[in-house]
Formats: sequence, structure tokens, C-alpha cells
Amino acid sequence: MPTGKICADFGGVKRDGTPCTRGAGWGRKGIDTGPCKNHSSDEAEKQNAIKAAFLEKIQDPLMSKETAAVHVGSSVTAIWRMRQTDPEFDAEITRIHQANDPLRLEAVEDSLFARIVTGGASGTETIFWLMNRAPDRWQDKRFIQHTVEGNPREALAKLLNMKPEDLPE
Ligand SMILES: [Zn+2]
Repeated sequence: MPTGKICADFGGVKRDGTPCTRGAGWGRKGIDTGPCKNHSSDEAEKQNAIKAAFLEKIQDPLMSKETAAVHVGSSVTAIWRMRQTDPEFDAEITRIHQANDPLRLEAVEDSLFARIVTGGASGTETIFWLMNRAPDRWQDKRFIQHTVEGNPREALAKLLNMKPEDLPE
């Protein structure tokens, strides 16, 4: 039988210090006394450990949130739910993500550049890179396509004013 009590009646306090208004025992089958699922000490401790580990993981700019969630024994969905119920956790994820964005972009650029230089990039990727980095020199698409499809290393060497054999492997 529901007692009509709330989590705060059993000591549940939200992170901002205000009383937790969730139903007592919320989320725990057949239990309607005691704090809610988030504030029962076992569950709260487990969640806090997952949150801390997740925040630690995503400091790495090359770590996707999906991979990080799996690494900490959680899931994208569970992390999403934690973000909904914990504004501080949500804000911290957003902050880390924004700080890492330039690093992620750089990593993608470096990886693309390396593949172009070693001949591992597709013609389209090479064209894209050349057109963006030196539009004034690579405006004639037909010319580029022809050149690049022939030999991406030669095209890149030309752009860099280098001989193809002087490009790093
Ligand atoms: Zn609660």
C-alpha cells in the first residue's frame, strides 16, 4: 500500500540541497518506504561511481560518448537518463564536450591529411581537402578530379610545392 510519503521523508536530498519529492521507495518494486531509487545509498553510490568514471573517460577527445558509456559498464540510454535527473552532471558533460571539440576536429584533420599523404585517402577526400585548403589553386574541378584520380600524392606534392618523392610516407 502506498504510504503517500516522499523520498525526503526518509532523508532524500537533491544535489542542490532541496528535499527530494519523488515517491518513497520509487522505482523499487513493492517498496514504498525509504528514499527513492536515486537516493537509496546503494543505488546513489553506484550511480555516482558511474558518473565519475564516465566524466573521466570523456576527457579523452577521441572517446565517443557511446564507447565511454560501455567502458564504465553503463549505456547511452542510462547516461542520458542520468543527465535528465542531474543538471550538474549534464552541464559537466556539455562543458567537456565543448572543450574537446577543437581537439576532435584537429584529430580528424590530422587523420585525413595522413591518409592523403600516404595515398590511403579516396579521390573525393583529397579533392575536398585541396579545395578547402587552397581554393584559389584548385578551382577547376575537372582538372582536380583528373589529376587526383591519377595520383593523389602528385596532386598533394604540387599543392605543397614538393616533389612526390619528398612527401613523408
Ligand atoms: Zn530521492
